[in-house]
Amino acid sequence: MKYIGAHVSIAGGLEYAVERAAQLKATAFALFTKNQRQWCSPSLTVEKITRFHLACIKNNYTSAQIMPHSSYLINLGHPRSYELNKSRTALLDEVLRCQKLNLRLLNCHPGSHLQQITEDKCLERISESINIVLNQTSEVTVVIENTAGQGSNLGFLFEHLSTIIRDVEDKSRIGVCIDTCHAFASGYDLRSESNCIETFSEFEKIIGFQYLRGVHLNDSKGKFNSRVDRHHSLGLGNIGLTAFHWLMKDPRFNGIPMILETVNPDLWKDEIAWLKTRQ
Ligand SMILES: [Zn+2]
Ligand SMILES: [Zn+2]
Repeated sequence: MKYIGAHVSIAGGLEYAVERAAQLKATAFALFTKNQRQWCSPSLTVEKITRFHLACIKNNYTSAQIMPHSSYLINLGHPRSYELNKSRTALLDEVLRCQKLNLRLLNCHPGSHLQQITEDKCLERISESINIVLNQTSEVTVVIENTAGQGSNLGFLFEHLSTIIRDVEDKSRIGVCIDTCHAFASGYDLRSESNCIETFSEFEKIIGFQYLRGVHLNDSKGKFNSRVDRHHSLGLGNIGLTAFHWLMKDPRFNGIPMILETVNPDLWKDEIAWLKTRQ
């Protein structure tokens, strides 16, 4: 069974995100557990947590269908120690929020070297950041996302993700999320079925499906291998519908959140309905 949904807004409170997902007839959803543009947010009260739980129960969502996304401010591989520590504290706070909400996955971006340290050094820092946070928490799996490789963002090669995983001590709480737009923009072709087969056999060889905890379903405004991170609605970008059809048919993507981050929320309901019929 595929879990299919979108990254919904938390405007009004976390429980509204659940209702928005339900209105889309989504069987999965992503959300921020706090304002993603701020370092500090008020802590979760028992009341807020209860309202979120009740909304999940009412709409039949379990933690396997929900993949929160961490703040964009976090850089787990930051070259300077002050900012690195700030990012580590922020990730710890986000994992603890997930724990309180009874959520089991936290999607985050690997990190950027900002041209100040080598790629290897940056990847080392990212693993170290994850180790520090996992050591102080339980139950939540950190899910690192592949990137388009824009600027100095790492994670655009499957090898980056496998290197990060290699140096994480608790392998049971580290996973990856593959964003189709980012993969395409960083040189993993998905335009035909044979491209999809090749890209994901590469994925299996370098990372392994046992680490796949989520997928982001996005078409791409940017060209193949352009390193440009610009999402598009399904079928309207340079990837095209074949890839999404293929993903829906393949059982290796069962049981994990598959999340739309496409540019037009007005289309999400139709995109979800279309994806469901392709299974
Ligand atoms: Zn992301
Ligand atoms: Zn994404």
